[in-house]
Amino acid sequence: MNPFIQLGIRHDIVNAISELGFENPTPIQEQSIPVLLTGSNDFVGLAQTGTGKTAAFGLPLLELLDFEENHPQALILCPTRELCLQITNDLKNYAKNMRNVHVVAVYGGASISDQLHQIRRGVQIVVATPGRMLDIINRKAIDFSKVGYVVLDEADEMLNMGFQEDIDSILSTTPDEKKTWLFSATMPSEVRRIAKKYMTDPFELTMGTKNTGNENIEHEYYIVRARDKYAAFKRIVDFNPEIFGIVFCRTKIETQEIAESLIKDGYNADSLHGDLSQQQRDKVMKRYRERSLQLLIATDVAARGIDVNDVTHVINYSLPDEIENYTHRSGRTARAGKTGVSISIINGKELGKIRQIEKTLGKRFVKVEIPTGFDVVEKQLFALVHKVHNVAVNEQQIEQYIPRIMDEFKELSKEDIIKRFASLEFNRFLDYYKNAPDLNAPVDESRRMDSAGTGDRSSRSGMRSDFTRLFINLGSVDGFSRGDLLGYICNTAKISGRTVGKIDVKGVYSFFEVPNEDSEKVMTGFKGADFQGREVRIELSGDGGNESRGGASNYKRREGGDRREGGFRRDGGGSSGGRREGGNRETSSAPGGGGGFRDFSGKRREDRAGGERRRRF
Ligand code: AMP
Repeated sequence: MNPFIQLGIRHDIVNAISELGFENPTPIQEQSIPVLLTGSNDFVGLAQTGTGKTAAFGLPLLELLDFEENHPQALILCPTRELCLQITNDLKNYAKNMRNVHVVAVYGGASISDQLHQIRRGVQIVVATPGRMLDIINRKAIDFSKVGYVVLDEADEMLNMGFQEDIDSILSTTPDEKKTWLFSATMPSEVRRIAKKYMTDPFELTMGTKNTGNENIEHEYYIVRARDKYAAFKRIVDFNPEIFGIVFCRTKIETQEIAESLIKDGYNADSLHGDLSQQQRDKVMKRYRERSLQLLIATDVAARGIDVNDVTHVINYSLPDEIENYTHRSGRTARAGKTGVSISIINGKELGKIRQIEKTLGKRFVKVEIPTGFDVVEKQLFALVHKVHNVAVNEQQIEQYIPRIMDEFKELSKEDIIKRFASLEFNRFLDYYKNAPDLNAPVDESRRMDSAGTGDRSSRSGMRSDFTRLFINLGSVDGFSRGDLLGYICNTAKISGRTVGKIDVKGVYSFFEVPNEDSEKVMTGFKGADFQGREVRIELSGDGGNESRGGASNYKRREGGDRREGGFRRDGGGSSGGRREGGNRETSSAPGGGGGFRDFSGKRREDRAGGERRRRF
């Protein structure tokens, strides 16, 4: 039997949600649906966004209301227009096979007369943001005297946005005997207070431990110098070729600056912040949803209610002022049972904030090293190889060119052709990253952090100052393990195994440490060495980035914005769309104007949100 039927949901709803791909209930649905279906409890659910909470309250509502009657029976309050539309849309989808179900979305920044018209025609479920709802109540355009259920969704966000008074006023127009269901990602004392105020003996459900956040999110942080932050951020993005991320900044100006720098550098990025008009916001969100944008640069307020599945990374370009906001930010990834990574790029002084968030979430954050230029090169190379392997071939279109292509390649073996295709991009990456500096904060600083027990898994931070780190162009793809490489180094350079320090075997290259006084000897020992006919290169892996590991030419790379093109184009092209890198040092750009900025729904609340009541670091 379908598990939703077992939970007590009727067939026509189950058929509709099956079409949406709901095969099994999510944990919150499993636990809340049977309770809410009784219709006799107040309810508090501590749950992140993306856990399936809309259906957790939506399905029981559809079961409990009387759709023969055309008056408001349920009111759902939520913080943003986006969420309001999302919930409305979801409910309509769930009720697709039911008759006479009327749901109206009530939110600011859109024509009130349309909303009033829909209300007059008769609705049973009102989904609303508080400001516009109160406006309509004050116009005496709606009668809530027969409302049986009120849902407060993302209650913490509504309070953060300063909606407390509006909620009070709205709820005062609903009957005392109604049931109230409250959902919140976090449970600050203000939410506790409203739970107490509006509910009697609520059934409480906590998904995961209190404030723990989503178990499927990995939390990582990188320590960089303030001046290297943008470059480090780009390096992290480059190291994740398939990234589909939301990047959080603290201010609107910062979002604009970062987005403009990224666009200038050729990335698929745009900003979302409170000064954009609703139309501009919608446009940005549409592009993001459609994946024309790979990176969305947002402020906390602007990102509220963003409901996009498959976000792979949340990047805290700046840490939020309030710990709760960290939970909200990271909750934008790992939705609907998927996994995700929440990254924070911090300077050494901000480590204390990380410790506080760790404590609040009860989760350990992992310190990660900013990838080296070579790490990025390797990652991009294999991403390219993967793309070539998986590319859809348009047989019909390509057919006419095949004879000429084959003719051009007739002298080359399969291996030669593959090498050339890979090198086309690989050489450019190699050139581009050849002088890439180490962007991790200085060793001393990291060491200090280590003693605080950060769970550091870096190899560099443990390096001794009397050792030199050397690069070698051999790695695991050449069949080397650490032990093999140690043997090979000792044999070739004629040094004792005991003198070799840390060995870090990567894919096509490795690093190893030798005492400073032995580094010359090792480099000399490798002069003229070859491995299976290939020249073996040993180089200093210095932080200064002066040493050259590749070719010399400058290049610009750009990735097709249309996402059909997987590789990197040589041409510069326009600045919107693809990803282009113009140099491995960060570029700073002036804050740009979006032009014609207008207010948007909730803006008033942003200003009011103040934050004094919120937990600050
Ligand atoms: P929500 O937390 O309600 O915003 O839901 C997050 C996402 O999970 C939405 O895209 C839902 O469509 C999806 N979802 C909710 N419940 C289920 C389920 N039982 N099975 C599969 N997907 C679900």
